[in-house]
Parts: sequence; structure tokens; C-alpha cells
Amino acid sequence: MNIVKTKKKLEEVLSAFRKDGHKINFIPTMGALHEGHLSLLKQGIQWGGKTVCSIFVNPTQFNDQEDLKKYPRPLEQDVTLLESVGCDLLFLPDIKEMYEDNEEEWSLDLGRLDRVLEGEKRPGHFQGVTQIVFKLFIAVKPDRAIFGQKDLQQFLVIEEMVRLKDLPVQLIMGTTIREASGLALSSRNVRLSEAGKKKALVLSMALQYVEAHLPHVKQGHLTLADLRQEAITLINDSPDVSLEYFAICDRTTLLEANNSTPHDRLVALVAAWVEGVRLIDNVVLK
Ligand code: AMP
Repeated sequence: MNIVKTKKKLEEVLSAFRKDGHKINFIPTMGALHEGHLSLLKQGIQWGGKTVCSIFVNPTQFNDQEDLKKYPRPLEQDVTLLESVGCDLLFLPDIKEMYEDNEEEWSLDLGRLDRVLEGEKRPGHFQGVTQIVFKLFIAVKPDRAIFGQKDLQQFLVIEEMVRLKDLPVQLIMGTTIREASGLALSSRNVRLSEAGKKKALVLSMALQYVEAHLPHVKQGHLTLADLRQEAITLINDSPDVSLEYFAICDRTTLLEANNSTPHDRLVALVAAWVEGVRLIDNVVLK
């Protein structure tokens, strides 16, 4: 695997790939890689062409400086994992490579996507995300970029950025990879104790509960609002889990769903704190 730290070197390797007729698949990450990231890489590798991963812990998307400081950075292990799946190129820039000293202020009108759920709870987060993903897309110029459903709102925000900036990249969403217990894999899970991981299970359980009981809504025995409330109660009754939101929404607009929202358009999303770690998860309802 090639490892490059500068945009100049990146461009050299990429143009050699393109000269040989390869399409470029791109998976941006913040490192501390796990099977969720690797599943996105494997998807890219399976398509053929060349698969590029970036690792960059982007400061502008952290609204909480403690979270940035505590973000895990096991670089050697990440390189080994990337090599084990057959990644072709790792872009590993430092902050100076991605941000100028006199950086122009970035502001993109993402509409309500930037104001609800993660947008509401993490002010500025999606501005930081779009700022860095735009820079990375300009540097890598990928044909396809793969993101995880785990961060569904992020996917929708990036789709909107690609539309607004008219970027020639195909976006693909990879499914959420979970532990056998149901807990969604996340780089932040390493900060949970075994007991914390058990407590965190209530998030995926509440999502599964909603999925399992949606037929009752379809049959008219329950409203969506009731079902949402039951999920909230399940989480609130769980010790040491602090709920931020539990929402059932239209999965493309993230407008709060009501009984007239078509059931094949629904997603349930949750954010909560366990042991000082903020966790998010979602399930697209069928
Ligand atoms: P991150 O390193 O957290 O910025 O994530 C990099 C990419 O991996 C994003 O597109 C995430 O949505 C994706 N990702 C994170 N966790 C998972 C998971 N459990 N399953 C699938 N994709 C994931």
C-alpha cells in the first residue's frame, strides 16, 4: 500500500492510477479503523479500480474539544488493517496540509439537514464535515465515494454538498456493521468499558423494537408517536444511559414522520451518552 502525506504526492500516485485506466474509489475516515470501515473498503476493492482511504481527524467538525483530544489514533494498527484488506493508497495528511493559516470561512447552506438531530445537537459539525470532505474530494477526485449508513445524516449532508457544488462523484452508502450483540461498531466504542458496552446495547434494542413493532402501526393498532414514546421509555428506563434524541423520520428529508409518511420511507435514529461517550445509531425501517 502506498502511503502519502501531501496533496502533491497524492496527485502523482493518482494520476499514475488513472493513466492505467483505473477508476478511483474513496473512503474518507478519521482512523481507529474497525470492521465497519473495512466493510466500506472491501466494497470499493470488490468493484475494481483503485481504492483510496484517507485518515484525518478533522478538527473543524468537533464541537467538543474534549472529544477531539480523546479521539483514538492507533495509526500502526490502522495501516496493518488497511494492508490486510488490500487498500491501494492511504492519504495521511497533517492539519497544515488540509488547512491554510488564513483559511477562508466555510459556510454551506445545508438547509434543515443542518438544523435537526445531529445538526441541532452538534452546532457547526456538518459545516466542518462538508468543509473537509469537499477538500478531500478536490484532492482525490474520486469516481465513487463510500460512506456508512451508521452516519445517515452525514450521508444526506454530503449528498446535498455534492449537489450544491456540482461535484462529479457517485456516492454510495454501505450498511452498518454491528457486533454480534447488536452494538453498532464505532471508533468511540474503545472508550467504553465492558459494562458500558452492555448499557449501550439499549440503543440498538430500542431501534429493533421500533422495527419489530412497525407492523402494529401499519395495522392501525398504534401510532408512530406511541411507538417512538415506547422506544424512549425503554432507553430512559435503562440506568446510566442519557438520551439526546430518538426520532422517527422520513429517511431522505429527516422531517419528523407522521402517520401519513409512507412506511417504506422511514428511519429511526438515536443519540445517547454512555460513560461520557456520545453514541449514535439508526435503522432504516422496512
Ligand atoms: P469515521 O472514521 O467515524 O469518520 O467514519 C468513516 C466512515 O466509516 C463513515 O462513512 C462512517 O459512516 C463509516 N462507519 C463508521 N462506523 C461504521 C459502521 N459500524 N458500519 C459501517 N460504516 C461505518
